[in-house]
Amino acid sequence: MSASAKLPPFDPADPLGVDDLLEPEDLAVRDTVRGWAADRVLPYVAEWYEKGELPVIRELARELGSIGALGMSLTGYGCAGASAVQYGLACLELEAADSGIRSLVSVQGSLAMYAIHRYGSEEQKTEWLPRMASGEVIGCFGLTEPDHGSDPAGMRTFAKRDGEDWVLSGRKMWITNGSVAGVAIVWARTEDGVRGFVVPTDRPGFSAPEIKHKWSLRASVTSELVLDDVRLPADAVLPEVTGLRGPLGCLSHARYGIVWGAMGAARSSFEAALDYARTREQFGRPIGGFQLTQAKLADMAVELHKGILLAHHLGRRMDAGRLRPEQVSFGKLNNVREAIEICRTARTILGANGISLEYPVMRHATNLESVLTYEGTVEMHQLVLGKALTGLDAFR
Ligand SMILES: Cc1cc2nc3c(=O)[nH]c(=O)nc-3n(C[C@H](O)[C@H](O)[C@H](O)COP(=O)(O)OP(=O)(O)OC[C@H]3O[C@@H](n4cnc5c(N)ncnc54)[C@H](O)[C@@H]3O)c2cc1C
Repeated sequence: MSASAKLPPFDPADPLGVDDLLEPEDLAVRDTVRGWAADRVLPYVAEWYEKGELPVIRELARELGSIGALGMSLTGYGCAGASAVQYGLACLELEAADSGIRSLVSVQGSLAMYAIHRYGSEEQKTEWLPRMASGEVIGCFGLTEPDHGSDPAGMRTFAKRDGEDWVLSGRKMWITNGSVAGVAIVWARTEDGVRGFVVPTDRPGFSAPEIKHKWSLRASVTSELVLDDVRLPADAVLPEVTGLRGPLGCLSHARYGIVWGAMGAARSSFEAALDYARTREQFGRPIGGFQLTQAKLADMAVELHKGILLAHHLGRRMDAGRLRPEQVSFGKLNNVREAIEICRTARTILGANGISLEYPVMRHATNLESVLTYEGTVEMHQLVLGKALTGLDAFR
């Protein structure tokens, strides 16, 4: 008997056997989220995308809450207390359905809830986190401004004291979940530096007009936040952080989810291309039988599963409390860049069908254009790594 007879069979869905690294509880989380996305997102997402709307976002948020996907890796206050690897697996499954759905979950859990959990007072945590974990309240996170994206240090939104109160003025731009949020975490300049504010969105002076005409993340709500002298009580400020390290800490957590999520969009596109290559015939044979198509599929599989391994490695480091922001930048830079290439290559394998919403690949590819830019652009992550490698800061 040859040695290979004892080996497990080659699995095209898991060619490196990465599933061996997962515990039964990890697989259970993955199955739950995959099953939810198959029922509640996949049958409808092409239509939402085509119409450029997410009409059932409130229902989806409650359902995501019921499966424990909101603030999943946070502990207490109704959160699931899952591991970083489990949270990553959930992000992958959600983004395999659509980046917009993963964005809803990332912003809710890793940005808005994380900010309150990490930097909030006990009262803020008790007031907001249980309702956000259940999906009853949707949160958003306002850092970017019309004139300040990659360089938030220049933000103009400011909060000034008026007696005990705070009065908040300014504008935020490109804010995921903005128009449907019940609470906004808004970062603003104060006399003491940048502070985070917990802003109930029903306050007078707050509005969140939706941004239309997007060609990417169309099944996602993106908004402006307009803060026109929004008066807040003294205890609206997040007490435990001052300075940009506040929002950057949240972003690092959200970027970690993207490292996994991007591989979901890539997996979905790869699977569509593999299936198509096996069945589509030209010149009298399946196009998957041509060497050029096989080279594409092989390269896609290599980058896809390298990316999943990388995500897993970073997840284990996060679970061990050893994940550095530069390592998150490494993962976000690589995995989003490779994911978009995989989607674009999948598009070529599907030929003309590749541009149709009947298949997911073009939707994923255009979604990833946003993912490439938000949570730090490719260039920002190159600069983070460049600085870590050389010790020289090239941001300015
Ligand atoms: C769909 C979507 C959802 C979003 N959701 C949110 C959200 O919920 N909350 C939020 O706060 N923000 C959100 N954003 C905003 C996002 O984080 C910003 O778009 C991003 O930080 C980039 O900022 P910018 O678009 O202003 O680009 P800019 O910062 O103006 O950059 C433009 C280009 O210049 C490059 N560049 C800038 N500086 C340098 C430099 N020093 N060296 C080399 N190149 C440089 C950039 O890499 C980029 O290629 C979202 C964006 C999108 C598209």
